[in-house]
Amino acid sequence: MKYTGRITLLIISMMVSIIESFSEPTTTWSILEAILFAAIAASLGWVYDKAIYYKNRAEMSKNRLSNLLKFSPEPIFVYQDEKIVFVNHKFEELVRSSSDEILGKSIFECILPDYHPIVKKRLNEIHNGNKSLNRVELKIKTTHNSILDVEISSAPILYNDKPAVEVFMRDVTKRNRLEEEVRKNEELYRFITENTTDLISFLNHNGYYEYLSPSSKDLLDFNQEEMIGSHLFDYLHPDEVEKVTALLLEADSELDFAAFSHRIKKKDGSYIWIETNARTIRKNSRKLVGIVAVSRDITERLEKEKRLHDANVMLRYISNMDGLTGIPNRRCFDEKLQEEWKQLKRNSSPFSAIMIDIDFFKKYNDFNGHQAGDECLRQIASVLKDTLKRPGDFAARYGGEEFVILLPETDKQGAAHVAELLQANVKNLNIPYLSNVIEPIVSISIGCSTLIPDEKTKPEDLIKLADIELYKAKESRRNQLIFNQLSHLA
Ligand code: GH3
Ligand code: MG
Ligand code: MG
Repeated sequence: MKYTGRITLLIISMMVSIIESFSEPTTTWSILEAILFAAIAASLGWVYDKAIYYKNRAEMSKNRLSNLLKFSPEPIFVYQDEKIVFVNHKFEELVRSSSDEILGKSIFECILPDYHPIVKKRLNEIHNGNKSLNRVELKIKTTHNSILDVEISSAPILYNDKPAVEVFMRDVTKRNRLEEEVRKNEELYRFITENTTDLISFLNHNGYYEYLSPSSKDLLDFNQEEMIGSHLFDYLHPDEVEKVTALLLEADSELDFAAFSHRIKKKDGSYIWIETNARTIRKNSRKLVGIVAVSRDITERLEKEKRLHDANVMLRYISNMDGLTGIPNRRCFDEKLQEEWKQLKRNSSPFSAIMIDIDFFKKYNDFNGHQAGDECLRQIASVLKDTLKRPGDFAARYGGEEFVILLPETDKQGAAHVAELLQANVKNLNIPYLSNVIEPIVSISIGCSTLIPDEKTKPEDLIKLADIELYKAKESRRNQLIFNQLSHLA
């Protein structure tokens, strides 16, 4: 406006001076001429003013564009006449080179050859007026020979009043690497889940299946699709619902990993035993998203374990039992003696032992044969077993025709009572010797001992004492019962 004002004033002053210069009386025509002249002059002033205004605006927008290119947060370069004619700071950073090193070069110097055709095509499109900002992904080599994945979009511009191409570039190397990593992991997990014989499943936080590996078919005869959307409890054995419910509740709060065995229903309604390792998946807030579970059929393993367990029980039984009489053997007796000793020592309770030896058994064998001898041993063992009434009482074959009885928490009187009963019960068997021994029927000699286990005594002492008494019984007269009692007995 200031230009217009200035020029208009100039014109008006020019008009006034023209009018004043007429010495002759003014004619209508000369006034009109002067007005027309003034109007033309004013219009010229306005046109001039507008021209200046647009020139300034063009300059301003040019500056603005130049600043925009310069300070854009994205790497940008301008390509003109097959040369890079402008690069911004971000672009220098991206390719790790200064503008001096880059300007004047062809972009094909830094683009890997594989991508030349696609870039040439894009440049042609722009040349032919295609203004779309289609993105193209390619690889470039920096001056330091590192390879970058970049995404470019380009558009035609006028640069220094000449046609050029403005190229926006974005470094997508990291993004691509991450994507590749994710893709690789996905493929790896897919390969594992689709080929494993284990059942891999994902349950949402409410216990509904959202994913199952194809092995569900082999394991349970259900297709994945049949199970997805159904609830874990649709397959759990009723006996395990309570246990698994408790685990799910814990998983909702703090439990992150659980391994447990349970039964699961197959399509035909039968159950198999599976072992499940489950891990929770949580949001950052620790809120439960779901549970990943890997389950394995352990039916066969359990059967094997049961067979092994049964075999072990049998082995233990065999190793602890006397094969002939069916009562515990010496090995079992030794263990039992130590065990009971420790217990009774803690309680300071009396502990009694009874040693038994069949009288003249050699002779019995000689006259009746070994098999009859065996049968006799069996009968006597059975009497010993049946005579003992308390759960803690224990009878074993000590060796040959000798037996031993342990009576925990039993004092001298109690032991004597049991010993007498034993002697009587063996007598009642009424097994004839069929030889010229003193007694007509098989009898036993007995030695008894009682101790209160303490620091000064050992378990073996109890047996040694009973053995001494047994020896005495044999010495004096067979079919005897001799008792040994230590001075500190209760
Ligand atoms: P004593 O009255 O002094 O005890 O005389 P004894 O003949 O019983 O004792 P001795 O130690 O002389 O003989 C024990 C016999 O017991 C010898 C052995 O033949 C017999 N005997 C040991 N173990 C078995 C067995 O498993 N079966 C049979 N049939 N006899 C056995
Ligand atoms: Mg003997
Ligand atoms: Mg004997």
